[in-house]
Amino acid sequence: MPLNTAPRIGLGWDRHGLVSGRPCILGGIEIPFELGPIGHSDADVLLHALTDSLLGAAGLDDLGTLFSDQDPRWKDANSKDFLTAAMTKLSEKKLQVVSVDLVVICDQPKIRPYREAIRQNLSKLLDLDQDRINLKGKTTEGGCSGSIAVQAVALLLPL
Ligand code: MG
Repeated sequence: MPLNTAPRIGLGWDRHGLVSGRPCILGGIEIPFELGPIGHSDADVLLHALTDSLLGAAGLDDLGTLFSDQDPRWKDANSKDFLTAAMTKLSEKKLQVVSVDLVVICDQPKIRPYREAIRQNLSKLLDLDQDRINLKGKTTEGGCSGSIAVQAVALLLPL
């Protein structure tokens, strides 16, 4: 297979501590929970990992380089804007998203009740059929308490 038609794979990972007084936004969906991820932006750890997987697959700079948490422009930023910016960069490189798979790693909140709503929202944001977007929650028996971590993998194909 010529390399210019070969698929490209990318891996993203992020983890934020949970604190009181912050909304718990995951994949653009606000989850009712007494704690929320701390961060410079809206701290949507799922969108951060997903965006990094897309940027990585495209061979682009990572999220922290493009949208530094030291930059006041991104204070309280909506992480959907990071994902949208990454999607624009992908289309400039004539790359399309084929599938993504995500693992949300936390003991609380439980992810399953929000799984479909998050997938639906990601389907809109990525302009991708929902059956190409997978998402599961994994608990850690206390090994990840006080934080939410997300792993994301994305597959791209040249347009
Ligand atoms: Mg982050």
